[in-house]
Amino acid sequence: MRKKVIAGNWKMNKVLSEANRFVDEVKEKVPNSEQVEAIVCAPFPFLASLVEKTKGSKLKIAAQNMHFENDGAFTGEVSPVMLKDLGVTHVVLGHSERREYFAETDETVNQKTHAAFQHGLTPIVCVGETLEQREANETMGLIETQVQKALQGLSEEQVANTIIAYEPIWAIGTGKTATSEQANEVCTHIRNVVRELTSEATAEQVIIQYGGSVKPANVDELLAQSDIDGALVGGASLEVDSFLQLVEAGA
Ligand code: 13P
Repeated sequence: MRKKVIAGNWKMNKVLSEANRFVDEVKEKVPNSEQVEAIVCAPFPFLASLVEKTKGSKLKIAAQNMHFENDGAFTGEVSPVMLKDLGVTHVVLGHSERREYFAETDETVNQKTHAAFQHGLTPIVCVGETLEQREANETMGLIETQVQKALQGLSEEQVANTIIAYEPIWAIGTGKTATSEQANEVCTHIRNVVRELTSEATAEQVIIQYGGSVKPANVDELLAQSDIDGALVGGASLEVDSFLQLVEAGA
């Protein structure tokens, strides 16, 4: 049985005092279950503090992006070495907002995925289609390309340890959730793509999340689907109570 991974992606929200308060409260209440992993994906300036606060707790801290180089003349960027040194465990890569507003491409996502593994960080690789692409029946082909390119050149063990998040862009922050069937159909497709790239065993192991307007009211149905192993949550992860409800749904 695959565990459920519930990751709250705060995006560009909160200030340090709010982030600290959230984590102080949540870390005490995360269910002590092997079945669920809870992660907060926080802005860079909060990471050191949040990692320090969560030492010895079940709550994990992730970054929302990083550069693929270890160091160098890349003003404004943050490297995998820096994240690892802080004690960050996961990093979100290729979120649709980074693809749309910050020129992230399948190629840079692939470089970053390799860099994450080189430094012992678990990548949460995001894929997803726009509404136009869905309506043009391009979803499955596009997702296949995004997954193949993101994972290109990884060892089978690395693929098995990648978290893939399916986030249809039309469902992000819009209140429009994909139906659980729509979400599962694409997650099943992603697992099939992984199976073709690697093996049955790896396909069965890889964690595939759904993201896009996940909230306490719809999380149970989504997590009950055959190929949905968790959620990547924006808006509903900002409040302690709703984030904890989502984590409890996975436990
Ligand atoms: P919402 O949950 O706010 O729709 O955001 C989803 C998302 O983009 C998480 O990465």
